[in-house]
Order: sequence, then structure tokens, then C-alpha cells
Amino acid sequence: MNMNTCTALACLALLHAGSAGSAAAQGNSPPAAQEITRAGTQASMPGPPEFFTGRVRVDPVWPADAHINASGGLVTFEPGARSAWHTHPAGQRLLVVAGVGLTQEWGKPVQALRPGDVVWCPPGVKHWHGATATTGVRHIAITGTVDGKNVDWMEHVTDEQYRK
Ligand code: MN
Repeated sequence: MNMNTCTALACLALLHAGSAGSAAAQGNSPPAAQEITRAGTQASMPGPPEFFTGRVRVDPVWPADAHINASGGLVTFEPGARSAWHTHPAGQRLLVVAGVGLTQEWGKPVQALRPGDVVWCPPGVKHWHGATATTGVRHIAITGTVDGKNVDWMEHVTDEQYRK
């Protein structure tokens, strides 16, 4: 590997991943070491406008990988922002950490979400989540992955259609 082609941090990560893999292959090696992903090393990204209404920021927490087959993300919805209808092939847990938000399952009433509330959304259940009209909300989303995919988005719909 050419040190000029990657940052020192990325190369350390690759070296660490390589040693952990070989240790596991040998069977009788000591457990792999802890890994710490440092704050500030994962860029924030906007919620894609084709799947979100309003201002949404996604802060990646961890990717689905060989250790745990579910990703973690910290999602911040400004007032009025919400996701499109969607399903998750392996389900999703939400932990609300700030603000007041909303979620709705297809055909059921909208429900308020407050800090400390935990939502389990089973695989294939059509739903949306987001802020209220006047308050933002922030939740951690832990989303299982099937064949590298963790969400199936539906068509975007208007506010009135959301609440039918
Ligand atoms: Mn969801």
C-alpha cells in the first residue's frame, strides 16, 4: 500500500481490520481489540430530498458490518421535516434523544415521540417518522440490513396524505 494514497488514520484502520481478520481465522487467538471511532471523523449528510421533506441531517454512527448486521445513525429533523413512507427489510429501532416528533404506521393514527421513547418497527411495516410542525426531533436509528439494504422507500406524499 502506498502511504501517499491514504491518510495515516485510514491506513491504521485497514491494518487493524487485517489483523483482526487473521486472528479470527486462527481460532485460538485472543479476542480482537476494541475499536473507537473518534468524534468528528464521520461527515454529516443531508437527508436526500427525494426521501425526506424539510431539513434533515443524518450523522452516521456506525455502518452495518461483519460485527453487527445493523447500522446506527443519528437523525435530526427540523420542524416540519419528515421521511417519506418506507419499510425496513430487517426492521428498525428508534431511540428519541431530543425534541418532540411523530411517527405513523400505514392505516394507523399519528403518534407523538418524546425523548426516551423507543420504537420497534418490524420488517416490512410501512411507516414514516419525523418532526412535528413546530418542534424538531432527534433520534438514533438502528436499522438491520439484508443483502446490504436497510430501507425500501415509497413514493413521496403530501402532508395531507400523510395523516390519512
Ligand atoms: Mn424507518
